[in-house]
Parts: sequence; structure tokens; C-alpha cells
Amino acid sequence: MLTGPRGCLVTGGSRGIGAAIAAALAGHGARVAVHAGRDLAAARAVVDSLPGAGHVAVVGDLADPDAAPAVVAAAVDGLGRLDVLVNNAGVFEAHPIDGVDLDTWRAAWRRHVAVNLLGPADLAWLLVDHLRSRPEGAAGGRIVAVGSRGAYRGEPVTAAYAATKAGLHSMTQSLALALAPYGITATAVAPGFVETDMARSVLDSPAGDAVRAQSPFGRVATADEIAATVMWLALDAPDWVSGAVLDVNGASHLR
Ligand code: NAP
Repeated sequence: MLTGPRGCLVTGGSRGIGAAIAAALAGHGARVAVHAGRDLAAARAVVDSLPGAGHVAVVGDLADPDAAPAVVAAAVDGLGRLDVLVNNAGVFEAHPIDGVDLDTWRAAWRRHVAVNLLGPADLAWLLVDHLRSRPEGAAGGRIVAVGSRGAYRGEPVTAAYAATKAGLHSMTQSLALALAPYGITATAVAPGFVETDMARSVLDSPAGDAVRAQSPFGRVATADEIAATVMWLALDAPDWVSGAVLDVNGASHLR
């Protein structure tokens, strides 16, 4: 039986949705390792803004295959325990098939696969290894992935992004099957557009109004709305939710 504050690693916690997730988890009594890809100072600023104590900042570029072990080790060292992994960090870079040369296309696919899929897969393995080897056992461990509506709806100028998010959703379902015997859950959220740096160029462009009109609410999500859902999955949801990929898209895409 787990007691005391949960230790949570939030990748890409230095801004956007990840920073909101870190705030929601800390506001719910968790200790958070706030990860940044490059900008350690931004992760430290988020740590300083969180309620409670014992939070830490960690850094590591997930495009580097050697980064994940160091990120998890720093989170375990800093927090003293690690129960929850939120695979939130991601990249979303335009690479239209009819607008880039083959080298650019290949580089975009490799970068999206490395950061959005291989990094999360490595981090999941490392969390599970940590949970299975700890004296109190693995039960209570949780993996939450931040996927995307684009996995279902398609992304015409960012095909690799949509494909890696579909992979993340599928990995979540496989991990839910594999990890239930250990008492570990795996879930994901699939947001539509969210007001962050990542979506800024689209939302501020002439296409922004059409994107907002995709939802009958006439707007896109706030980062806090995604964070509240992730916080529930990470800390409060019943184990029976394991395997779910929750649409969090303001009814902009129903399936
Ligand atoms: P964001 O504002 O661009 O923030 C991205 C975060 O990921 C930052 O903390 C960044 O750290 C980190 N990151 C970027 N590249 C990295 C790398 N190579 N290695 C490690 N970390 C890296 O993004 P966001 O909008 O909050 O998105 C968060 C998640 O939600 C992503 O997985 C995204 O795909 C998903 N999502 C977003 C939207 C949306 O409309 N915004 C919609 C659906 C899903 P540094 O700044 O230090 O690099």
C-alpha cells in the first residue's frame, strides 16, 4: 500500500501543457520532477512556482537515445521515489509531403519518432524497471501519455506527428495489458488544439478561426483543461481506466 506523496516525472514540464500538469499534480500533493528538453532554467522556474516542497528540475533531449536513463535517474535521485511517468514532451514540426525535399522529410520523420515515440518508450521501460525493483513493489505505478486527436483525424502537414501519436496511443494499450498484473496502469489523453507555444503559429494564422470553429464551444483548449484530465489519470482514476485513450477535444472530433 503506497503512502506519502507520489513522485511524478513530467516530461516537457517546463512550459505549455506540461507546466500545467506539473502544477495540477503538485496542487494535489504530489512531488514533481519537471523535465525540460533543453531549457533547464525554464524547468527550474516551474519548480519554483509549484505549491508544496521536494520538487526538482531535470533536463535531457529525448532526440538523444542516451537521454532517458539519465532523466529517470535524476528524477529518482531528486524525488527519492518515482511512481508516475507523464510522457508529455513532444515536437510538432511542419513537413508537408509536397513542400519539402526528401532529406527534410526523412529528418522530420526521424526527429518525431525519436522524441515522440522512442523517448517515451524508453522512459516507460525505465519506470517499470524502477517500480519492479523497489522494495514496496510496483503496484500504484502509473504511466500517462499525452497523445493527440491528430492520430485519428490526420495531420496534412505533419504526418510524422500524427503517426507517432497513433503509436503512443497503441503503446499505451499494449502496456495496459502487460502491466496490469503488476498493478501498474497505462492511459493516454488525445487533445485537440491547445493554447500553447506549439499551436501558436496555427492559432495566430488566418486558419486560426477555422480551428476554433472545429469545436462547438468555438475555441481551443486551455492547458489547464488537459492538465486536470492528466492529473486525474495519474493520481485519482480507478485502475479500471487502464488502457483508455481519452478524447479531450471539446467535441471537435467524435469517433
Ligand atoms: P510546447 O509548449 O511546445 O512544450 C514542449 C515541451 O516539450 C517543452 O517542455 C520542451 O522543452 C519539451 N521538448 C521539446 N522537444 C524536446 C526534446 N527533443 N526532448 C525533450 N523534451 C522536449 O508543447 P505543448 O503544446 O505543451 O505540448 C505538450 C504535449 O501535448 C506534446 O506531446 C504535444 O504533442 C501534445 N499536444 C499538444 C497540442 C497543442 O495544440 N498544443 C495538441 C495535442 C497534443 P524545451 O523547451 O526545453 O525544449
